[in-house]
Amino acid sequence: EAKRNGRNRYEYFHPELDAAARRRRSMEMDLRTALHLGQLQLYYQPIVDNGSNQISGYEALMRWQHPGNGLVMPLDFIPIAEETGLIHEVGARALNLACQEAASWPGKQTVAVNLSPVQFKNSDLVKIVGLALADSGLEPERLELEITESVLLENSESNIDTLKELKALGVSIALDDFGTGYSSLGYLRSFSFDRIKIDKSFVQDMGESREALSIVRAITGMSGSLLIKTTAEGVETDAQLEQLKAEGCSHFQGYLFGRPQPASERIEVLE
Ligand code: C2E
Ligand code: MG
Ligand code: MG
Ligand code: MG
Repeated sequence: EAKRNGRNRYEYFHPELDAAARRRRSMEMDLRTALHLGQLQLYYQPIVDNGSNQISGYEALMRWQHPGNGLVMPLDFIPIAEETGLIHEVGARALNLACQEAASWPGKQTVAVNLSPVQFKNSDLVKIVGLALADSGLEPERLELEITESVLLENSESNIDTLKELKALGVSIALDDFGTGYSSLGYLRSFSFDRIKIDKSFVQDMGESREALSIVRAITGMSGSLLIKTTAEGVETDAQLEQLKAEGCSHFQGYLFGRPQPASERIEVLE
């Protein structure tokens, strides 16, 4: 009905929808301010190599240090940034900050940055990544970009071309949250990923669920023969770690080794 009435349609809007739209609008303005005032920061969580038991790299996870609301988590603002298009600036900020900060680490570990599928709609994405590398002086081999399966679901041909151009810069590409989306083995044929990140839901269920364990086993088995690295996400207990080692996972990430920390408190060595 609202649609048919043309110019009068706003009169028929549900008051709650209107409130939600207004909330989104004010959040958008807040987020714009946050960008300009440098309230968007990166926290770093260690990724541990199974072979050496050392920290081989970090995942950069965004936090919004909000003056009134304290620390705002990404799930509370990334979706709004995606809806409003601000994700292009937020994403560029993450790339620039991560490259600058990692370039100063004495240990030369890698840094992984999450890319939103929306960022692939920007034809300048490859240029933005290239500039972040050039401006910071970070060696491209030390940058990893994490994407989710949805990037391969929509505009897959053009997005795969973009992934190839990114890889040509010398960076690595990881497939994040593997197993949660529309996981298709075909994806692994369409592009040679450097790493698969096993979603934490499988790691957390592995102890009680034969299905979850079988899926972890299938992913590590397949990755092993394709020479793709596997990071298990959300490792919280020694029992999970032992099981994942037995399955031949190459890397681990989770609270067992350390929570994401601000750059100044980055975990440099494991206890
Ligand atoms: P993700 O990329 O899958 O990141 C892993 C998430 O798991 C992080 O949540 C991390 O804090 C959490 N985590 C790590 N270890 C454990 C554990 O042992 N147990 C549990 N329960 N959780 C653990 P976080 O930081 O809240 O980020 C959530 C999601 O927000 C990320 O999931 C990613 O999709 C997105 N995100 C974060 N930063 C950015 C960013 O800069 N850009 C974009 N586009 N997305 C981002
Ligand atoms: Mg990630
Ligand atoms: Mg993940
Ligand atoms: Mg996740």
